Amino acid sequence: MDYRFSGKSGLQLPLISLGLWHNFGSVDPYENARAMLLHAWENGVTHFDIANNYGPEPCSAEKTFGRVLKEDLFAHRDQMIVSSKAGYWGWDGPYGNGGSRKYLIASCDQSLKRTGLEYFDIFYSHRYDPETPIEETMQALVDIVRAGKALYVGISNYPADKQKEACEYLRQAHVPCLIGQYKANIIAQQTLIENLPVAIDQGTGFICFSPLAQGLLTDRYLNGIPEGSRATKEVFLHRAQITQEVVERSQRLNQIAQQRGQSLAQMALAWLLAQKGVTSVLIGASSVNQLDNNLHALDNTTFTQQELDAINDAIKE
Ligand code: NDP
Repeated sequence: MDYRFSGKSGLQLPLISLGLWHNFGSVDPYENARAMLLHAWENGVTHFDIANNYGPEPCSAEKTFGRVLKEDLFAHRDQMIVSSKAGYWGWDGPYGNGGSRKYLIASCDQSLKRTGLEYFDIFYSHRYDPETPIEETMQALVDIVRAGKALYVGISNYPADKQKEACEYLRQAHVPCLIGQYKANIIAQQTLIENLPVAIDQGTGFICFSPLAQGLLTDRYLNGIPEGSRATKEVFLHRAQITQEVVERSQRLNQIAQQRGQSLAQMALAWLLAQKGVTSVLIGASSVNQLDNNLHALDNTTFTQQELDAINDAIKE
């Protein structure tokens, strides 16, 4: 594993980080979740990303992580970076969603209890909330750090102008924004155009979530929709999204990957890591095999201009 500094901070993150959005909930087999976490750890993945509501059931991924940490990894606590977030729905009522001080601080406390951690390495505002003054949300992050509940703070899914405002507030409060977390991949490049330049300018890191487009940038759907795949769960990815056009685009990209001697997933991760300013790619996985395949993306992260052009053509067709 290689590591990159997160923006202008002194904190290094692994090129590949593991997220627990799917497949680590109470409905998922615990032994599989544990095996993936241990395999990641053994291969230098030092960064694990959670959020208050990851499951299903909501909030259960934090408990799964806490159990593996307690039973297998606690001796390594100082060698890992654990992040959590609040911003989307956490619980019913007016204080369980958005960017209020009330929600962020209560949620951070709950997340610490569920994971059994004394502090998070990174605590995020999960989304920009237009109904809460940005100063309130940012000051809540600052105070979470001041209270010793997190070492660094980050923001996720902020529009570029609000991202800049947030970073400026945090810098003035002497709790500089460590990192921005945004959806970015070969077929969803908007944040690379809008948010990545702001991150570079503000000196923050940039971590790309859903780098495999939830599986669309892998071989998962090249020959139909396998039972148990994310698209069959019909929650965040739907069978209806696996259209003929989408499959054909994946097939074109897959051919380019094969010519590079990589799987499509490996090429998709390598492509992001080749973008200037990207700190880490935040992958998901449902098996140790997938995770292992993804880790080998690091075997080849350079692209010829011809390959980059071919990728551009493949997504435009
Ligand atoms: P990916 O785009 O990496 O998709 C992961 C899925 O792709 C897996 O569950 C699996 O699907 C499939 N897959 C992964 N590797 C392979 C492989 N080698 N071969 C075939 N299929 C593969 O990321 P996610 O969408 O899961 O997001 C990753 C993380 O990003 C989350 O866990 C979370 O931490 C973060 N995130 C943050 C958000 C935010 O708002 N800040 C929003 C969304 C995610 P299958 O299950 O079908 O096997």
